[in-house]
Amino acid sequence: MKILNFGSLNIDYTYQVEHIVRPGETISSQGLEIYPGGKGLNQSVAMARAGAKEVHHAGAVGEDGRWLVDLCRENGIHTEYILELPVRTGNAVIQVAESGENCILLFAGANRRNTPAYIRKVLSDFGPGDFLVLQNEINGLDVLMEEASRRGLFIILNPSPFNGTVTACPLEKTGLFLLNEIEGKELTGKTEPEEILAEIERKYPDSQAVLTLGSRGAVYAGKGERFRQEAFPVRAVDTTGAGDTFAGYFITALAEGQPVPSALAFAARGAAEAVTRKGAVPSIPYREALTGENVGNASAE
Ligand code: ADP
Repeated sequence: MKILNFGSLNIDYTYQVEHIVRPGETISSQGLEIYPGGKGLNQSVAMARAGAKEVHHAGAVGEDGRWLVDLCRENGIHTEYILELPVRTGNAVIQVAESGENCILLFAGANRRNTPAYIRKVLSDFGPGDFLVLQNEINGLDVLMEEASRRGLFIILNPSPFNGTVTACPLEKTGLFLLNEIEGKELTGKTEPEEILAEIERKYPDSQAVLTLGSRGAVYAGKGERFRQEAFPVRAVDTTGAGDTFAGYFITALAEGQPVPSALAFAARGAAEAVTRKGAVPSIPYREALTGENVGNASAE
């Protein structure tokens, strides 16, 4: 089986600030670092570093983003579907405060240039049993979901950042939702984790879901089962990329046929490691680097 991640490729401008800038305020940043980013790219890198054998990334960059394609290749990601278009590569302006909090401003650029013809062409190489991984930083999600469902792919949706584009998609075709509390609330209108999962089960009875709860771990709901995973205790330095690392590790474990509780533990170990380092891509750990001491602790409820 193959994994196709149709997703964003971004250049992240990460500014270190004392606090997140407030409306009307001007502040100086204490430093700038330029990183590869985009939830799509992050999740492809996370899958590759988690050990996924065949990850194909699809999406677009401008000339200024060629180094992102090189980086994908260096990480063992297949890049033959990535287009170079005569526009700017998507980018993000990220503030990381001394408290570890962050906030992100996105410019979609090439990430919003997907056409139905390009989407259909890429998907024509995939079929039943293959995974399609999606986030909400590109256009064409609805076409992707319709077409992938018609071809029998298993659709994994991380509806982030959440907006009306997500709700306009045929969400019942989602095989697995990967979402944090903010996205869970937006999707269901509920606030408590248990209520969010119950509402997803009611609205999308054929889907599975993993709700991540930051330092409080994650909960899986699907196929009439619930599994809870504690977060591994670490000193958080920068939580950018925690969710993407969790997603990449969880999807990889599922692709390997691991049962859900062990996939949750694997994802939580990877994500815990990611929050101990700065940035998104640089903080995504390699599977080999995870120590064996933190064994899985998912439990059925
Ligand atoms: P997102 O980054 O999408 O907002 P979360 O904040 O829910 O996602 O984090 C995703 C996962 O990362 C959590 O389920 C947890 O396993 C791990 N994680 C996040 N923050 C921490 C932390 N402070 N310590 C340990 N693990 C964490």
